[in-house]
This record gives sequence, C-alpha cells and structure tokens, in this order.
Amino acid sequence: MSEENTIHRFLNKIEFTDTCWLWTGATTKGYGQLGFKIKGELKIFQAHRLAYRFWVGPIPCGLPLDHDKAVCKNRNCVKPEHLEPVTTAENNRRVYGQRPGYCAKDLHDLTLPGAREGIQCRVCKNIQRRSRRRKH
Ligand SMILES: [Zn+2]
Ligand SMILES: [Zn+2]
Repeated sequence: MSEENTIHRFLNKIEFTDTCWLWTGATTKGYGQLGFKIKGELKIFQAHRLAYRFWVGPIPCGLPLDHDKAVCKNRNCVKPEHLEPVTTAENNRRVYGQRPGYCAKDLHDLTLPGAREGIQCRVCKNIQRRSRRRKH
C-alpha cells in the first residue's frame, strides 16, 4: 500500500465536527484503531496517536498520549488540540510537587530520610489517613 493510500484511508475514517474529530473506524475500549500492513505483517496503531503524528509531529518515544479530559470526553476523538502528550516530567509532577524533590502538595521535602512511603509523601499520607478516619 502506498503512503498516499494509507493517509486517505486514515482521513476517510474521521468525521470532522465543529468541536471534535471523531474516529469512525474500529475501536478498542472506545479508542480508535487502524491496522496497517507493514512488510506483510498487520500492525495495529492507535488512531489518536496517528492523528497527533500527522498534524503535530512525532510523539517522543514511548510517551503516553492522553485525552485532555477538561476539553473533550470523547475517547474516539483524534483532534490534536484535544490531546496532550504526558511527559515524564508531568507524570512526576502528578506524584511529586512542582519543585524537584518535593511532594505532590509541594510542601514536604521528599529527599529527607523516611520522608517517603513508597512513592508517596509520608506526611501527606498520614494527613489523608487521619482525615479519612475522622469522617467515619
Ligand atoms: Zn474532542
Ligand atoms: Zn507532602
């Protein structure tokens, strides 16, 4: 299959609406998929990743691409503006704080010995635990 045919096949499966670009092809768990034969072998690609690569550019190797749920709740939407690559730094920020070495609340220094429980901040975890107990 030529590259041009592949792109046509891909674009033909997208329904462009005013808000979202909806994938009309096959889906798994709501996420669009497209199969290509590469050197005679069928490979399945995620439609939103293909779309991002097509309109925006390469996704850094292995980076998960998430839907920006504040903007769009359609899993089969492939509009690049509705997608955000989750960088490792961002992933870390979801666990740790804005400042390197600090916890998600950005309050406690996680580099101190015993400051962490697993990957979580021990102080925050204790506060969480106490507030949960208070509710019961
Ligand atoms: Zn959307
Ligand atoms: Zn903390």
